[in-house]
Amino acid sequence: MRESYLPYGKQWIDNDDIKAVVDVLKSDYLTTGPNIAEFEKAFAQYVDAKFAVAICNGTAALHAACYAAGIQADDEVITTPITFAASANAVLYCGGTPVFADINAATYNIDPSEIRKKITSKTKAIIPVHFTGQPCDMDGIGRIAKEYNLIVIEDAAHAVGADYKGKKIGSISGMTTFSFHPVKHITTGEGGMITTNSEELYQKLLLFRSHGITRDKAKMHSNQGSWYYEQLDLGYNYRLTDIQAVLGHSQLNKVDKFLKRRREIVAMYTEAFKDNNLLTVPYQQAGCNSSWHLYVIKLNLERLSCGRKEVFEALQRENIGVNVHYIPVYKHPYYQQNGYRDVKCIHSENLYERIISLPIFPKMTNQDVQDVINSVKTILERNEK
Ligand SMILES: *Cc1c(COP(=O)(O)O)cnc(C)c1O
Repeated sequence: MRESYLPYGKQWIDNDDIKAVVDVLKSDYLTTGPNIAEFEKAFAQYVDAKFAVAICNGTAALHAACYAAGIQADDEVITTPITFAASANAVLYCGGTPVFADINAATYNIDPSEIRKKITSKTKAIIPVHFTGQPCDMDGIGRIAKEYNLIVIEDAAHAVGADYKGKKIGSISGMTTFSFHPVKHITTGEGGMITTNSEELYQKLLLFRSHGITRDKAKMHSNQGSWYYEQLDLGYNYRLTDIQAVLGHSQLNKVDKFLKRRREIVAMYTEAFKDNNLLTVPYQQAGCNSSWHLYVIKLNLERLSCGRKEVFEALQRENIGVNVHYIPVYKHPYYQQNGYRDVKCIHSENLYERIISLPIFPKMTNQDVQDVINSVKTILERNEK
């Protein structure tokens, strides 16, 4: 058994990150300074998008995107149950109604044919989530969006650096949102980003991030002097600080190194588990590259004498910091108490019963990976029917 606890995800902060932050602390601008635009520009470039808007976290990014998409009361937005609650909550923030469409049992991502079944005259948008970093079927989703005139907001909290048929995630849909929480690919402590190719959406996002206030003379109703600004809509203070932006920029410079290491870890896991009939390894879509935020194994419960809980707890006892991503969102008490009691997405619920997220983060050593492999194999073999 391991001496130390291995978490499922963790940041990698180097001296160059620390120096960048300290330099900002010694500068004139802790917030609304030059580092915001620099980070945005670098991020937009990295994902091949025209515009990027830095924001205080990934949840605010989703909220801002729903606002810019014009989501309001009576609007329905289709998303997946296998996601963090924020993907659906953002719709509620705008007064809209999240509608859950089931996943594809093989890819674990939202299934376009299930989206079709959920479309009504109230549907305004689709929020696909690139679960674990594996890109969703964006061609299928794009076709539906075009047919029904829907906005697509990709939740790419797991998908920094992923690509879909040669296109970077962040460059494809109306808007794409990212998170820089420490377990994600790059971190700013808390932070997020929205990318878009639309100037109109870009302007709405900027306004929303900062109280709905503008100093842009072209947008103001009057101009009473150089002190003057106007609040044009109800926005929030969702700004990222310069301290965070410079950290994000410094981290972004290393994102390909981080991704490469994630892929090495994945290769080790998949090699160790691919022929093991007690579990299923993650699906890999041909022509796409996952960014491997998570490595999710699916237990073959038919061949085991115990449930997921027993395997999970045995791994925890071995100091392996496993996790479960995710409880289907509509199963949470808040959703159950607010109209979702009759929702049933079979594939999502089946998946939830069987999954365990193994530790994966770039700073893991090969020994860490081997510890996980050994523990998983031993525990599963011990419980084989
Ligand atoms: C992390 C995450 C978010 C929220 O991001 P925060 O920065 O924590 O607010 C949203 N959606 C998904 C799928 C996530 O994993």
